[in-house]
Amino acid sequence: MLFATHLLAAAVLARVRRLPVFAVVLGAALPDLIDKPLATSGVVEMFHTVGHTALLFPLALAVALTGRHGVAIAVGWALHLFMDALHIVINGRPTDALFLFWPLVVPPTPLAIPPGEFFWYYLWSPSFFLEVAIWTVVGVTTAKHLHATWADH
Ligand SMILES: [Zn+2]
Repeated sequence: MLFATHLLAAAVLARVRRLPVFAVVLGAALPDLIDKPLATSGVVEMFHTVGHTALLFPLALAVALTGRHGVAIAVGWALHLFMDALHIVINGRPTDALFLFWPLVVPPTPLAIPPGEFFWYYLWSPSFFLEVAIWTVVGVTTAKHLHATWADH
């Protein structure tokens, strides 16, 4: 999914689950902040590798065990992986979700499209419309909340 949608979903989840918002958003940002530069600079061949592998679960668990902010960072990281796998499956490329097991398993035909070009590939895909729905629901909910808050004053 698009980076901004990861951050939005993390903020919403943090509010709903009463977790520290900044920590959940940070955790949700980490996979792309780690992997995009690595792939763009040619260190790795795919955009879903080190930060996106579910094999980091023991590390995430160790972070979660440090306390409330650790839990929030781990939750954000896991949310990011879930959302990326979901969008890939929705867009009809389920084998690409094997990135979750990198480097043990590598997707047979990964897209390997740089972030800028990816946006144009992604535009009008089924997952793109899911993201539009997410932003619409959050926008309408926020507008209703703000309207109710202002009406009270
Ligand atoms: Zn990602």
